[in-house]
Amino acid sequence: MPEFINGTNLESMRRYFFNGATRDYSFRRQQLHALKNAVLKYEKEIDAALFTDLKKSPEETYATESGLLLAEINSAIRNLRNWMRPQSAPDNLVNFPSSCKIYREPLGVVLIIAPWNYPFQLALIPMVGAIAAGNCVVLKPSELSPATSAVIEKIIKEIFTEEYVCVVQGDGAEAIPAMMKDFRFDHIFFTGSIPVGKIIYQLAANNLIPVTLELGGKSPAVIEADANITVAARRIALGKFANAGQTCIAPDYVLVDETIKEAFIKKLKETIIFFFGENASQSDSYGKIINEKRFDALKKYLHEGKIIFGGDNDRSKLFIAPTIIEDVYLDSPLMTEEIFGPILPVFGFTIREDAVNIIQKNPKPLSFYVFTTDTKKEKEWIEQIQFGGGCINNTCWHFANHNLPFGGIGNSGTGAYHGKYSFDTFTHNKAVMKTATWFDPNLKYPPFKGKLKWFKLFIR
Ligand code: NAD
Repeated sequence: MPEFINGTNLESMRRYFFNGATRDYSFRRQQLHALKNAVLKYEKEIDAALFTDLKKSPEETYATESGLLLAEINSAIRNLRNWMRPQSAPDNLVNFPSSCKIYREPLGVVLIIAPWNYPFQLALIPMVGAIAAGNCVVLKPSELSPATSAVIEKIIKEIFTEEYVCVVQGDGAEAIPAMMKDFRFDHIFFTGSIPVGKIIYQLAANNLIPVTLELGGKSPAVIEADANITVAARRIALGKFANAGQTCIAPDYVLVDETIKEAFIKKLKETIIFFFGENASQSDSYGKIINEKRFDALKKYLHEGKIIFGGDNDRSKLFIAPTIIEDVYLDSPLMTEEIFGPILPVFGFTIREDAVNIIQKNPKPLSFYVFTTDTKKEKEWIEQIQFGGGCINNTCWHFANHNLPFGGIGNSGTGAYHGKYSFDTFTHNKAVMKTATWFDPNLKYPPFKGKLKWFKLFIR
């Protein structure tokens, strides 16, 4: 753990926050511009780091990491003044004559904890919201994507003072409890696994620290008989096999109407070959598994069904081919754990209830995808399944629209972010009523005897 981050130094961040510098509109705007310029300046280093950690191509890095971050920064810069402006709220009869305002207050010193799978944007997009909202930030990137974490630290050190934003590296299990022992953060924003999310929630509860938890789970894709299966195959293959399946919102498994199952699988196989070639290990567009531990966990899944496509793997290259698997038991780990790798179980269904039952065996998913050309079915699915967010006739891209709140429900998460929703996450709505003094009826004050009928008239 860097020397800077101990209780005393975190207190110096608190003092920096209290001195008020971060509240100013032009200060916030300037920091967002500084971040944007640094992302542009270090583009090559960012690309190289993501290639080292996850074998991402510069194209994939732009589309799923740095480009998303730049779009988020641009949106915050464009909208900042509007988001910060106090909002007027209507008065009510009992408080006449008053005027009401909601002031948009920063929270203070916030902690952002990031995972390794999209290690750049999942650390920095929440930080954009925290900065826009006027907070000081402690950022904890993942120790499992060290090249990207190093670039993040380099950028932050270059553009921000350490009282304002600082990076803590290392094993989260050590660094985070150590920081929280002596210091009360004003908010914790965590992206990662459900088990670690529970630990963070418990640590936060000791000091009543509010949390946002962006977690995972099993996100299903349903394909109805009337779907455009060519499009479904392309969009499911992209969502599932991008980043070698290590995407929290990747379609975890597919439920396809039995009557089109064979046709869909044929299209999916053709699509995978078109995207990544006959040998995906040689494709520039196909990533690698993050480390041996994850590789070994994924390899076990390959024995839990009948592989009908792919299955090749190479531990020395951390490679697992895009794989389609059938005949999987619903109570096997492959169908009870989040897969988080390039293995796609496919099930046929004949009646909707069977598909719904499979989905509802697991907790509420982070994402849900339905492929259909029938708007009635689309509506029924969206209403019947509880999920964080999702798409109709698409996968994953809802994440890339900062006008939509992104977050889970139940076990897949608490709270949401992106665009204005990030600003709101890191903002306190301070409600203030101002009451005029020219009118102050005795009715409001003791003694109350005999005033009930008036109270019933005015308070309703
Ligand atoms: P993880 O929970 O293992 O680690 C996330 C962060 O927590 C890391 O920075 C790590 O250092 C820290 N950490 C680990 N153990 C800790 C502990 N005991 N105490 C405090 N901090 C600790 O998650 P991961 O393996 O990096 O990421 C994969 C998981 O994240 C998957 O479950 C995936 O679905 C989820 N995820 C969710 C989203 C989302 O937006 N909802 C996005 C990406 C990943």
